[in-house]
Amino acid sequence: MSVNCPICEAEAEEKLPRASDHIEIVCPMCHRFGITASALAIVYHRLPEDRHAALYHARAIAAQDKKTPLITSGMF
Ligand SMILES: [Zn+2]
Repeated sequence: MSVNCPICEAEAEEKLPRASDHIEIVCPMCHRFGITASALAIVYHRLPEDRHAALYHARAIAAQDKKTPLITSGMF
């Protein structure tokens, strides 16, 4: 499904089926990441640099766990 990336607003793909508590985005700029419903509700009110900071934060955590980065509302 084609969507706009919640981080950089480029055209991206949403991975379906959608999980109950988060969505997964595959973006040509930001690569693959998840974002929770609560983070998604506030991300568009944040500045682009704050969105990217949240993605970097999620990536740093995911790198330790070898998982897909997951952006949560606590990262903004
Ligand atoms: Zn993006």
